[in-house]
Amino acid sequence: MKPRWTVHKFGGASLAGADEYRRVAEILTGSRNGRCAAVVSASFGITDRLLSLLELAVARPAALAAQIEDIRAHHEDLAHDLLGGTAGPEYIRAFGEDLETIASVLEAIELLHSAPPEAESLVSGYGEIWSARLLSGLIAEQGVPSGWLNARDVLTIEQAELGPVVDWQDSSQRLNETLADHRDELLIITGYVARTAAGIPTTLGRNGSDFSASIFGSLLEAETVVIWTNVDGVMSGDPRVVKEAAVIPQLTYNEAMELAYFGARVIHPGTMAPLIERGIPLYIRNSFRPEQPGTCIAPGDGEGNQVKGITIIDSMALVNLEGAGMIGVPGTADRLFGALREAGISVVMISQGSSEHSICFAVPEKHADSARDVVCRAFALEMDQGQIQGVGIQRRCSILAVVGDGMRGVPGVAATLFNALGRAGVNVRAIAQGASERNISAVIDGEESERALRAVHSGFYLSPQTVSIGLLGPGNVGGVLLDQIAGERDRLAADSHLDLRVRAIASSGRMLLGTRTIGLEGWRDHWARADAPLDLEAFGRHVQAEHIPHAVIIDCSASEKVAGHYAEWLA
Ligand code: ADP
Ligand code: ASP
Ligand code: MG
Repeated sequence: MKPRWTVHKFGGASLAGADEYRRVAEILTGSRNGRCAAVVSASFGITDRLLSLLELAVARPAALAAQIEDIRAHHEDLAHDLLGGTAGPEYIRAFGEDLETIASVLEAIELLHSAPPEAESLVSGYGEIWSARLLSGLIAEQGVPSGWLNARDVLTIEQAELGPVVDWQDSSQRLNETLADHRDELLIITGYVARTAAGIPTTLGRNGSDFSASIFGSLLEAETVVIWTNVDGVMSGDPRVVKEAAVIPQLTYNEAMELAYFGARVIHPGTMAPLIERGIPLYIRNSFRPEQPGTCIAPGDGEGNQVKGITIIDSMALVNLEGAGMIGVPGTADRLFGALREAGISVVMISQGSSEHSICFAVPEKHADSARDVVCRAFALEMDQGQIQGVGIQRRCSILAVVGDGMRGVPGVAATLFNALGRAGVNVRAIAQGASERNISAVIDGEESERALRAVHSGFYLSPQTVSIGLLGPGNVGGVLLDQIAGERDRLAADSHLDLRVRAIASSGRMLLGTRTIGLEGWRDHWARADAPLDLEAFGRHVQAEHIPHAVIIDCSASEKVAGHYAEWLA
């Protein structure tokens, strides 16, 4: 029996500069057993820059030359650094030809004053092609047989209402024909790009290389698919917002799909579908820390934590349709969502009160006005007759979603969610829970989204006994107290589940603020190096972090100025 394929995927952040390409080559050449394919994204930021060329060609053609030069310099530098011999000049020649093609497309766009979608797909997909050529060349130079394959020649898709649909039969046939030319090679495949049935270049949409990886995983009947990115795996919350976020070791396909759909950008929401059918496990790993095990996404029924992760989608609008005329009238929802579907507006979340007096739903903010127009048209008669009072829109909303298979049938999850939001003073505008009970989502004000995410994350992941501590005056008494806390911390955590986090120390002139906690074993050294000038307002705010359930400020300073802040801190 032939050995099975492993399909890897490397995102733009894992392919930012020459060092990153070398690291990726090392992962690939070091982990080869069986047949191995790697789907690659464009180098970091290149897709954005290619897309901006199209905008510039319409609005500011004079700025095109500099942007093209920037893209050229980036790739030529990479080629000089990574490819030698004949491979380097050959790469630069092919790259130059592509730039000429792009230049002629841009010229046409300039004349038309608009960029048709086909032009956008063609131009924006070059980043993946340049990246694949580069990585394949680099690996070949290291003596490992390597070839690259342009997904524009093999992956046939159709752009449908709900996104790209793969023509499996045609793609499989094309892939098999192409594979005959690539025996025994480590195969590099372009992510993101595809073709239509008529052979016109198209794409799987932004962030679509993850989806490419799972499609090729399925086409090649891979044993596993590994998505390499720049974080240690799928995390319990967006690590850019939640410092305490932890890697989730295991997810089911459904959990991963839900997290991706509700905003965890680390995986494209389409990724899981092609894998589910064949039961191919998916790993999310860090190309910068390959020693970390990452997240494993596989079939199953959601063991472990009840709540696996918390996500946020920003830039949403909440549309509310209200009126006594909807009570007991069958088919209202059908008419409403049918009209929206016809207008091509996707509804992210729906909530209807049991009185049927109102229905509200969330749509991307950019579709808010057209959603309102569609609804007004669909219910014009009822509005005229006063059965429906109106269509309200709230812009700048966010949807916060709590996801986990294990929430099913477990009481109290919703209570923890709303408690955490309530304590953080976040107003909830609408709520939805799917019948699968895998997800509870809440619509909140956009300005409160980061605060809400931190508060809810701490509600589920921190112990209710986590205490943020700030100490003023680390002299004799204060210093001994810090030593005592350092000595007792582990015992208190083990015996009493008390998680004491000294996060701020200040004297009359300076202060030291730590994000998670200040390492207390060597606190005197940290403190000796602290040079931030004292700012009592900032000190107070830092200690009373909204993501930690409790805060304590200990004053060992005997300072009038500090005492002057007591009332405000207690308030
Ligand atoms: P790539 O270029 O590898 O496709 P992306 O930028 O598309 O990488 O996705 C990785 C990023 O997703 C991370 O750097 C992280 O900031 C962000 N992210 C958002 N939510 C999560 C989450 N729940 N877990 C992990 N990463 C997340
Ligand atoms: N390069 C494409 C993008 O930036 C696809 C991807 O990286 O997944 O959207
Ligand atoms: Mg991505």
